[in-house]
Formats: sequence, C-alpha cells, structure tokens
Amino acid sequence: MIHEHLVFDLTGVRNDMDSQLRSSDVIEEVQDLQSVGCNLIVEVSNIGMGRDPLAMLEISEQTGSMIVASTGFYKEIFYPSYVFERSSEALSEIFIQDIEVGMDGTAIKAGLIAEIGSSLNEITAAEEVVFRAAILAHRATGAPISTHCEIGTMGKEQLALFEAYGADLSRVSFGHQDLNLDVEEQRLLLRSGAYIQFDTVGKNNYRPDEERALNLVQLLEDGYEDSLMLSCDITRKSHLRHSGGYGYRHLFDSFLPALRNHGVTEAIFTKMLVTNPRRFLAF
Ligand SMILES: [Zn+2]
Repeated sequence: MIHEHLVFDLTGVRNDMDSQLRSSDVIEEVQDLQSVGCNLIVEVSNIGMGRDPLAMLEISEQTGSMIVASTGFYKEIFYPSYVFERSSEALSEIFIQDIEVGMDGTAIKAGLIAEIGSSLNEITAAEEVVFRAAILAHRATGAPISTHCEIGTMGKEQLALFEAYGADLSRVSFGHQDLNLDVEEQRLLLRSGAYIQFDTVGKNNYRPDEERALNLVQLLEDGYEDSLMLSCDITRKSHLRHSGGYGYRHLFDSFLPALRNHGVTEAIFTKMLVTNPRRFLAF
C-alpha cells in the first residue's frame, strides 16, 4: 500500500480526537492485511504529523509487516513554525539526515520524502520552499518523492516545480490523483514519466469507488499500467474496522474485485501493487 498512515496525530489542527492513531489501534489490522496478501505499507506521516519511528518499529516487529517511513513536511497548515524561518537548503538538511542517519534521534531511516503537500488550488510560498527542499534532498540522496495533491488539485503546478528544480520524474509520484476529475491532467503527469496514485480508495464521500474504478480502467486502457499505484489513505480512527469503518483491507476486499469485474487482470494487479512500488521505492 503506497500511501498510508499508521501512527499520527493531526488533532492539533483538525481539533477532533478522531484524527489520531497509535500503534495499539492498528496492530490487529496490519496483521489482518497479511491474510489478503499485503506485507508492506508505505507510511507517509511526516514531521509535524506526529510521525513516530519507534511506534512504526513496534508495529513492524509485532506483525512481521514491512513499513517504509517518510521524511518531509505535509502542507502549510501543519508546518512546525521553524519551517517558515528556514531556507530550502536548511530544510533539505533535515530530510537528508532522516534518510542517511535516522529520524528523531533513532537509527531508523526514512525510505522516501513524503507526503509533500500543496493546499487546495494553491501552492503557498512556504509550500514552494518545502517542495524545493524535498527536491534538493532527493537530488542529494536519490530518495523518491511522493506528494499530496489536496482533493487532487495542483498536480500540473507541482510538476512545474519538479521540472524547474531538476527532479528525476521517474522518482516522483503524485498523490490523491483519484480525486482529480481532470483526466487530461492525469495523462500529462503520467507522460512526464512520473507515477500517479489512486490512494483514497474507500473515501466514497470524496468520490465513489465505482467512479474511481472507471477512471483507473481508462488509464489502464491508455497503457499506463507501469505508472499507477494504489492505497486507502486511512487518516481517522473511525476509518478502522473495529470502529465500524472500511479499514486498510478495503482495497483488497472491495476495490480489486470491482476492478476484476471490469476485466483488470492479476498481472496488472501485480504491477500496481508490487512491481511499480518496488521500482519507485528502490534507491
Ligand atoms: Zn494526503
């Protein structure tokens, strides 16, 4: 799963107790994911979102699942105050340290730079500074970058930053593109050589899964099977199965069968869920 959250705390910004998960909340569900064949989760909670390397280690040790952790800052409203006072160069040093030495004083290294976000219909000045920092760290380390496009917006503008600051587009993945209703823009991002993610599967309040599936099938028919990746982006306690939510398994229990009904083959599933994430993450 290419874009998930296991341990985070967004309550400071969202002001509700639903926006917080601890390792004890998710261990059972991560274990359960293995029964449907998923043994690796890319955790994109970053600095300012309550990222917790030791809790991720605990989940990994208790479940046997692999977890890839992230460095980065999310979107402006979640930035620690020091982000507004530092240059891209200075911020990139934090990311490089997380990737090469370890995060938050541990020896646990970040495996990617994510989720680097822009706001709704806007990349703020501070967000552009962070994008440039991410690209500097990517160029220094080779680490891949995964982004957050708020409700699917600003992909084209993010692409312009990646091009302007010299990112290797084959190491970039644009997030939340299943919420982007502009198929032409999805194709533009794909033509750049980047990946795009259909990573809010199950969030029917944003877009019904059936529409998500039809959009994905359209891009598969265009031949982009080597550039698509999938996830659910669980960000609330109420999304979990024991709270009556759809849970991480929803991708496997519900979305893959829907795609299968549209004629998507096992070979394509393997590409979207194994081959593409492996190629994207390796550096
Ligand atoms: Zn996001």
